[in-house]
Amino acid sequence: MENAPLPPPSEQPLPNRTDVLVIGAGYTGLSAARETAAAGRSTLVLDAGGLGTGCSSRNGGQVAYSIKPTFKDLAKRFGAALAFRICREGLDAMAYLRTLSTHDIGWQQHGCFFGAHTPRHFAIMARDAESQPRGLEQRISVVPRAEQASEIASDYYHGGCVYPDDASVDPTRLLLALWRRAIDSGATLIDHCPVTAINTSPEGFDVLTARGIVHARQVLLATNGYSGPLSPWHRRRVMPIGSYQIATEALGVDTVRTLIPHARNIVDSRRVVVYFRPSPDGERIIFGGRAALAEKDPLACVPRLKQMLVQIFPQLKSAQVSHAWAGWVAYTFDTLPHLGRHEGIYYCMGYCGQGVPLAPYFGTRIGQQMLGLEEGRTAFDGLPFPSRPYYHGTPWFLAPSVFAYRVIDAIGV
Ligand SMILES: Cc1cc2nc3c(=O)[nH]c(=O)nc-3n(C[C@H](O)[C@H](O)[C@H](O)COP(=O)(O)OP(=O)(O)OC[C@H]3O[C@@H](n4cnc5c(N)ncnc54)[C@H](O)[C@@H]3O)c2cc1C
Repeated sequence: MENAPLPPPSEQPLPNRTDVLVIGAGYTGLSAARETAAAGRSTLVLDAGGLGTGCSSRNGGQVAYSIKPTFKDLAKRFGAALAFRICREGLDAMAYLRTLSTHDIGWQQHGCFFGAHTPRHFAIMARDAESQPRGLEQRISVVPRAEQASEIASDYYHGGCVYPDDASVDPTRLLLALWRRAIDSGATLIDHCPVTAINTSPEGFDVLTARGIVHARQVLLATNGYSGPLSPWHRRRVMPIGSYQIATEALGVDTVRTLIPHARNIVDSRRVVVYFRPSPDGERIIFGGRAALAEKDPLACVPRLKQMLVQIFPQLKSAQVSHAWAGWVAYTFDTLPHLGRHEGIYYCMGYCGQGVPLAPYFGTRIGQQMLGLEEGRTAFDGLPFPSRPYYHGTPWFLAPSVFAYRVIDAIGV
């Protein structure tokens, strides 16, 4: 964010009515707003905070195929044909983001190294790389442990796989590009304007905000992990889960290159996953993961995240941490994103921590759906959006789950 300053707070008065009201000025909301505004619908985007207050200014910027369930799991649930279409959209989302790389979004296609946490994980990775479903193939090269030094200056992993088509973006530059496209298409953004209630009206909706009421014909909820109590139905379906990141002090481009020679993104096969990469300017390592059982202040997570980083790179024992931050990612119970319409309100959310490619793509699609356009249709339309008994928006089961996953990781299953 320091390299890509955000625009000053908006000063426009709140309009009395609008065709489309988008709640949430992140990648999803801005992408949808661009579609509806470009089609000539008056479009108002409101955010409780400033532009990108949520995840969209503070993420790791990693771009990968981001549908979590495997084709096999999806085929069991939905049949092979729909499973294929769902997975295809994961690839389409990456391709869509690549089309935006003509804007200044800091696109770097350095690929990703997926490190195996155990020898068994490596065997599974190697097998899966050889037997990808037809039509869903990604370029993958298997890297045995003996050759892993070419990818990472660490013995921590038991080999891994390289995905050369994965990329990274500068998260704030992507946000600014999507904001610019929405504004240039005619959308209006008003920030620091929380929406407090959405009531149905004969013409659509009366939307109550901290600054007054707006009458809207259509409403989109693009609030993701920041959804709060505004819509209890969505709140019962999305779990806000903290993701924590640190940046090292500037280590120098040469040092960072010795640690991660091809400047790739790195993720690993642990249940409690960590993810890291060189900063966009190549000077630092940006490292993220789940540092605590329960949610904590990001500063309180620094020692644990630093320890996790040093486990992988003992060379960084004396490196200082210069920045720490966190955000709320939106998990769903079936680990799929969801978009559609409930009681007349459109929604698009639940990227399970992988919204950098998914949010601009599905945000665009939901905007097109609001316009009634055929190209807005997705394989996700009409999928059940599951909740769980006794879940009302506070993931009380998170700490025991993270604990159990840590134990599984520690015993190396
Ligand atoms: C630390 C971290 C690292 C991540 N790393 C990666 C990564 O490397 N790769 C990847 O693919 N994904 C990553 N993600 C996830 C990714 O950033 C998100 O999936 C994506 O940004 C979601 O975009 P969004 O627009 O849907 O939601 P957000 O950007 O979260 O925006 C939601 C907005 O809704 C607003 N809002 C909420 N309620 C209201 C209300 N009542 N009234 C008005 N406004 C409201 C909020 O203020 C917020 O600005 C990461 C996330 C975090 C936190």
